[in-house]
Amino acid sequence: MDGPSGTGKSTVARRLAGALGAGYLDTGSMYRAVTLAVLRAGVDPADTVAVFRVAQSVDLHVGTEPNRASVHLGAEDVATEIRGQRVTLAVSAVSAVPKVRELLVNRQRQIISEVRARLGGIVVEGRDIGTVVAPDAGLKVYLTASADARAARRTRQDTADGRASTVDAVKADVERRDRLDSTRAVSPLRAAEDAVEVDTTELDIDGVVAHLLDIVRDRGLSGTHAQAGR
Ligand code: C5P
Repeated sequence: MDGPSGTGKSTVARRLAGALGAGYLDTGSMYRAVTLAVLRAGVDPADTVAVFRVAQSVDLHVGTEPNRASVHLGAEDVATEIRGQRVTLAVSAVSAVPKVRELLVNRQRQIISEVRARLGGIVVEGRDIGTVVAPDAGLKVYLTASADARAARRTRQDTADGRASTVDAVKADVERRDRLDSTRAVSPLRAAEDAVEVDTTELDIDGVVAHLLDIVRDRGLSGTHAQAGR
């Protein structure tokens, strides 16, 4: 599942995974955790060589439970800190470094194959999942929404999480990250040719999840694990 921020991607991906008894992977949290480590090391996010060195040395653990998405650096839970403004401002620069992407894409593929073997399926969200990480996925989804709708959602989420923000500031940030993520040289944000595109501007989460569950079932992608056990 790919798409820019504020399209409801995380909520939809988790709900879908929960309904299917599948695993869940938030690849954005991996880029965010590496970015936090870069900032803590006092490294300039524009210094690609130093950024890669940090990425290679981080002890990153990401959970795959849809109801409890955890991210750790070593033993430290960084799930809240990686959503803060400091990381959000720097993450696009870090995620544009080709060797950082190569490293994390390899990790993501390992996690995907381990979870698929264990649970029969996984819902993975990010920017390049259908195009690069899992080009053979049984279903590729690309979520979009207007910049205004996305900024409003992000602001509500920030407020709910106790972070100060305004719609104007969030809209500027959402548009800035879209631009950086869509124009970078390596794995830019774009829909895979065979992705199902869903515009969530006017849709509620329940509607989107129900629509995608129908497609999953039509394609015979649900119940993989149950079938294997039969
Ligand atoms: O999804 P989220 O907003 O947490 O992602 C944070 C940033 O991580 C994105 O703006 C993008 O720069 C980067 N990212 C990426 N590829 C992915 C997932 C996230 O480049 N698969």
